[in-house]
Amino acid sequence: MPTSKTHSSHKPLKRYGQNFLTDKNIIEKIVNEINSKEGEEILEIGPGKGALTRELLKSGAKIYAVEIDKYLVDELKKELEQANLINADVLKLNLVDLFTPNRIRVVGNIPYNITSPILFKLIENRTIVKDAVLMMQDEVAKRLVAKPNTKDYGILSIALNYFGSVEYCFRISKNVFFPKPKVFSALVHIYFNGQISPLDALFVKVVKAAFNHRRKTLKNSLTNSIFKDCDFKKIKFDLSRRAESLSVAEFTELTNEINNCLQRI
Ligand code: SAM
Repeated sequence: MPTSKTHSSHKPLKRYGQNFLTDKNIIEKIVNEINSKEGEEILEIGPGKGALTRELLKSGAKIYAVEIDKYLVDELKKELEQANLINADVLKLNLVDLFTPNRIRVVGNIPYNITSPILFKLIENRTIVKDAVLMMQDEVAKRLVAKPNTKDYGILSIALNYFGSVEYCFRISKNVFFPKPKVFSALVHIYFNGQISPLDALFVKVVKAAFNHRRKTLKNSLTNSIFKDCDFKKIKFDLSRRAESLSVAEFTELTNEINNCLQRI
């Protein structure tokens, strides 16, 4: 049986983005933001050594925790018997199969190298994910709440604000982790509205096509995209604008126009 000595000799793995939280105050602040309740179902991404898991369990919520590192899963299983530990890659986990018909909450100090794929996965699963409290690189967190006409504004902030809303909670120092990361982190709280519209998939395609060349006009980007067969003369939208200047509501208008256009092809 591994002793605590072998545990500490398990070096944090860079490839899995292992920076473990070591500061009680910050753990408490994160757990307060989640504010989990008895009866709720919570999926934790990357429990690591259980810094958040341990506290979340105290609320009486039902905790599922998906961790890619088998060593850490085996260690956690010994201590946190009430948690449902899943040894898997979160990006490959089928959330619909696991949780439908319930709506879950997601939390995690997530591995920074897969932040975008995790966010897109949550967007895809937005009908079963109520909200997500996530720690990520500060730079990425700022992008999620960026406003139009700024360099940080882009696909992720638009998609998240179309499917819900995002709150930047607070910045987190490098000193609360072991090993210390190179960059600052931040906590964000994402809320999904759970609504589904027939134009959702088209909306994402329009935003992606528009941002393919963010410095060029919409006309230029769209005519060089999957929408090249549209008759853009019939579109009631100023296509001389650039993608980065459009609000979420304006992207919705543009999506409606492109949808009408596609019906005419
Ligand atoms: N929650 C712990 C904490 O705050 O101390 C650990 C956070 S650490 C930044 C990220 C954790 O995610 C690591 O334990 C790592 O092994 C795990 N991880 C990395 N890639 C993963 C993946 N694709 N699926 C599930 N877990 C992953």
